[in-house]
Amino acid sequence: MVTKFNPYHVLHGPEGGQFTSGDGDATLDSTRSQVVLMAAQDTAKKLGFDPNKIAVNEGEHPFALNGKNYQAAGLAYLDGPKAGTIELFPRQIGTGATPAITAHEIMHQKFRAYLDDYRTQREGAIKDVDIKMRGNGMLDEAGARRYPLYQEHTRITDDLHQMMRDDGVSSYSRDWWNAQEAGKATLNQAIHETLAEIGALQQTTTLANMTHIARAAPNEEGQAFLYVKPLSQQWKDLYASVNSNWQAKHNVP
Ligand SMILES: [Zn+2]
Repeated sequence: MVTKFNPYHVLHGPEGGQFTSGDGDATLDSTRSQVVLMAAQDTAKKLGFDPNKIAVNEGEHPFALNGKNYQAAGLAYLDGPKAGTIELFPRQIGTGATPAITAHEIMHQKFRAYLDDYRTQREGAIKDVDIKMRGNGMLDEAGARRYPLYQEHTRITDDLHQMMRDDGVSSYSRDWWNAQEAGKATLNQAIHETLAEIGALQQTTTLANMTHIARAAPNEEGQAFLYVKPLSQQWKDLYASVNSNWQAKHNVP
């Protein structure tokens, strides 16, 4: 059985996790593949991502997650011979959904690059005898100048537990946090998907207007309720930090 799954999606290398979106089973002709590819490349240019690293695949990419079967709408290759590229599956992409799916996958690539840079700076900071690292991981002034990305990431994620509670820019990323809490997904995957969803949503709204439905803790009468919650400052900061790191490296104006 193939379960259709909205919205967007999907990813990546050995940690797995691939999702999908869209109308599914749509008739596909080469014109439609071209339309998807052109729209995706247009989105890539706007986001400072090399449009030549996006390809369409007219076949299918079925996968299983938590016992359910899905068809991928897009894949961001983070490892292996195709690392750094994105593949889209027009059969699974509904009309008008290409920019959001593309932006989602591009954010996976940007965050991967960001984490690589962060780890490199972190290793440098740990070995650096000329600087001091405080108990909370923050560096002294000299260290902050040498390892600015490390410092910024450490500052933003200082209260990671709050970020884990906040998440939920979409039901899709919230699902990942639920899986993470249940031990079925890693913290890295949940953060990846949350940022990717922010990227997708940014195709249709601004960070300032981004909201999601959250569930409040039950009150004294035991009633839980849903409410609209804006995107938290920490998530906005992390998203902006990932983008500016990418822009600095790729000379994006
Ligand atoms: Zn994803």
